[in-house]
Amino acid sequence: MNKDRKLIIAGNWKMNKTVAEAADLIDALLIDLKDVKEIDMVVCPPFTALGEVSKHILSTSIRLGAQNMSQHPSGAYTGEVSAMMLKEFSVRYVILGHSERRQYFNETDALVSVKAHAAHAAALRPIICVGETLEEREKGVTEEIIETQVRGSMDGLDAAKAADTILAYEPVWAIGTGKTASTEQAQEVHAHIRRLLASMYDESTARLVRIQYGGSVKPNNARELMSQPDIDGALVGGASLEARSFAQIIKSCLD
Ligand code: PEP
Repeated sequence: MNKDRKLIIAGNWKMNKTVAEAADLIDALLIDLKDVKEIDMVVCPPFTALGEVSKHILSTSIRLGAQNMSQHPSGAYTGEVSAMMLKEFSVRYVILGHSERRQYFNETDALVSVKAHAAHAAALRPIICVGETLEEREKGVTEEIIETQVRGSMDGLDAAKAADTILAYEPVWAIGTGKTASTEQAQEVHAHIRRLLASMYDESTARLVRIQYGGSVKPNNARELMSQPDIDGALVGGASLEARSFAQIIKSCLD
């Protein structure tokens, strides 16, 4: 696929997979994907499986991501995990502000931006998630909602850090529901985000930022979505829990 930016496809395993199951899944993926170089591939297991998965992907082209992290470097924050703790497992990416964290753990744009700064300070690349609810889409306020989330979640990031940030547009109504945004709906929002980035930074920074689409991405819809000019990858939930479907999604986007 002829793209301006290298595609990045990440699997968000959410709160699934024991250590043994994670080992099986990554081994199966490595068999299927060992020769893939043209797409950046990332798996985001739960914290408890990072150590195991990290060992399996040494010297392979699959990279490790975490699903969240604390904004604090260390201290009395029971239950939290810091950037440095993730780095011990060679984690390279961290998902921030996933809609489930916004919805169930009250994460705000302001908190996401503080976490994004902490991630960059530790040389972790944030994958910042934004997306409107069904109610917001039906009210016709999708673009305003996305603009508020992008501006708030990237607050204070300079152009170099912005260019090294991945955005994931994930309409909340499409996550885990089997409903995918149409390619036109997705492309429209992605183009809006890129115009917004150009106004927040400049054209060249906006051209560098990779914007993933997430929301019921499957082997049968991935290629069409990825062929849109402003869609630069996917954040995959359900379909990343099985090696076959995740590998098919990636392979379907190769030339
Ligand atoms: C996600 O949780 O980021 C996601 C996109 O999930 P799903 O692919 O299951 O809709």
